[in-house]
Amino acid sequence: MSKSFFIDTTLCTACRGCQVACKQWHDLPAEETKNRGTYENPQDLSFNTYKLVRMREKVLGGKLKWLFFPEQCRHCIEAPCLETAGDSTAIYKDKATNAILYTANTKDLSADEIIESCPYNIPRKGPDGTLAKCDMCNDRVHNGLLPACVKTCPTGAMNFGSRKNMLKLAKKRLRVVKRSSSKAQLLDAGDVNVIYLVAYAPSLYHEFSVATNSGSGITRQLALRKMVRPLTAAASQLL
Ligand code: SF4
Ligand code: SF4
Ligand code: SF4
Repeated sequence: MSKSFFIDTTLCTACRGCQVACKQWHDLPAEETKNRGTYENPQDLSFNTYKLVRMREKVLGGKLKWLFFPEQCRHCIEAPCLETAGDSTAIYKDKATNAILYTANTKDLSADEIIESCPYNIPRKGPDGTLAKCDMCNDRVHNGLLPACVKTCPTGAMNFGSRKNMLKLAKKRLRVVKRSSSKAQLLDAGDVNVIYLVAYAPSLYHEFSVATNSGSGITRQLALRKMVRPLTAAASQLL
């Protein structure tokens, strides 16, 4: 059964338990960090960091707000990285969970093309050209366990289950959050299996909080069109 995450950023306290749990489960080394005048650390996703809690300080309505965004691969329903790769030994979709998975064979792909094709700027290249990103903790899920980041989250911000149930929960929480924030919205919910709820304009959280074609050229634009095309076709059939 197709699996999805629902990430309710309004409940996130930026404790970073999810970030640490992800590293623990995958046995990934810590990053060398430095003080950049922000609590966000490390600075970015990397070959060794699949989950990163983005932190932004914004003055909204005259008040200082912390905006937290626990970032990871969105496990796109029509994944541009998978289409761009065209090699199921390197990037494939798990039929049971719909996780988009990378193997060691990604080192034989054009890493830059794959990275540029991702509308969320997720995959990262290792020293030998192999690509890495969140794997939905597919091994845990196949053994009846929750992904490590979900299991460890103490506030209920991270949720995981059938796509149907996650969409239901997301819509329920959206109705609640809308009462106090008119800008509350679900991000790209029809296109991805990692559904975020934000209370403010998405761009305030992170440049790639929603699918974008900015910043990385034509390949990302082509990939975005690939994502949009099936929706456009479906919409035209309704007219
Ligand atoms: Fe936020 Fe939960 Fe991650 Fe803590 S564990 S940073 S509350 S999503
Ligand atoms: Fe691939 Fe990027 Fe979508 Fe993840 S978010 S499945 S890396 S295109
Ligand atoms: Fe990391 Fe697993 Fe969560 Fe993905 S699902 S961010 S691999 S802990």
